[in-house]
Amino acid sequence: YVRAHGGNKHQFYAPEMDEDIKNRLEMINGLHNALVRDELQLSYQPKVNLAEGEFHSVEVLLRWSHPTLGQVSPSDFIPMAEESGMIGELTLWVLRQACLQVHAWQKQGLPPIRVAVNVSGHQLQSSDFITALTDLLNETGLDPQWLEIEITESVLMQSPTAAIATLNKLRKLGIHLAIDDFGTGYSSLAYLKRFPVHSLKIDRSFIKDIEQSERYATITSSIIEMGKSLHLTVIAEGVETLGQMAFLKEQNCDEIQGFLYSMPVNADEIVRLKTNLQDQTCPLSAVATS
Ligand code: C2E
Ligand code: MG
Ligand code: MG
Ligand code: MG
Repeated sequence: YVRAHGGNKHQFYAPEMDEDIKNRLEMINGLHNALVRDELQLSYQPKVNLAEGEFHSVEVLLRWSHPTLGQVSPSDFIPMAEESGMIGELTLWVLRQACLQVHAWQKQGLPPIRVAVNVSGHQLQSSDFITALTDLLNETGLDPQWLEIEITESVLMQSPTAAIATLNKLRKLGIHLAIDDFGTGYSSLAYLKRFPVHSLKIDRSFIKDIEQSERYATITSSIIEMGKSLHLTVIAEGVETLGQMAFLKEQNCDEIQGFLYSMPVNADEIVRLKTNLQDQTCPLSAVATS
């Protein structure tokens, strides 16, 4: 009986805490079954080229409909997958689905679309990952240039030298590489120069305030300038307003991703978006053609 230990230890048994632990356990157990029970789905969000007002790549975002908990956010279940050792299997599943989807779109006659998959630090550190990825590319026959991997800046900065070696191996496979959530991981220009990536995604926390805060606007322009000087494709994450888009365009940001153009959507919706770009109701067309 916990109170026998004295102090205020009983606070660990507060009912809401019980509920929390129960949910966590339910989620971890559930993750094991989610794959076989078909509860996981891929969502896709376009990265729109600002000069053209068109997109040629999408980011894959994992979605989980839990039978009793409902929609669980990847921000909650990805960390759990990492802790419980499920992340390797999960990442490979996402990569495989993404490769198959690109193939399916190509077969439908859609213009080529690159698909970007988020990969956690755990994978990056495992040599098995590179082998599995090589096998997957061989097996699906996908031209590697249509696959992109996003790795957060903070993961890269955990052990930059090891990260650079892994990035070089991935790049040799022919896939594209992006630094995700840039601006939150405290890397220096010196490191950025050494990371062999193709693109850099500015974290949403900067974009969110560019219209209100001169400081954030300045930081954002500096990141764009730095990225461009290193010949990287610069992408702004979480673009929600026309004002943000106009500012980013003026600063020569290459691409935007965010609710302004589209929420993450299913594969069929991507086809619709890709084939209806001249739609006048699209807020982007107004600016793209101006
Ligand atoms: P991320 O890779 O930085 O993905 C961007 C997140 O911002 C997504 O959240 C997306 O839905 C959200 N977002 C996009 N546009 C807007 C916007 O205009 N406004 C706002 N408020 N949010 C926007 P989501 O889907 O909840 O994913 C959260 C994070 O979970 C991702 O951040 C990524 O780190 C991780 N994640 C998602 N799918 C996977 C996956 O398959 N594998 C791994 N390892 N991580 C994943
Ligand atoms: Mg990402
Ligand atoms: Mg991000
Ligand atoms: Mg993120």
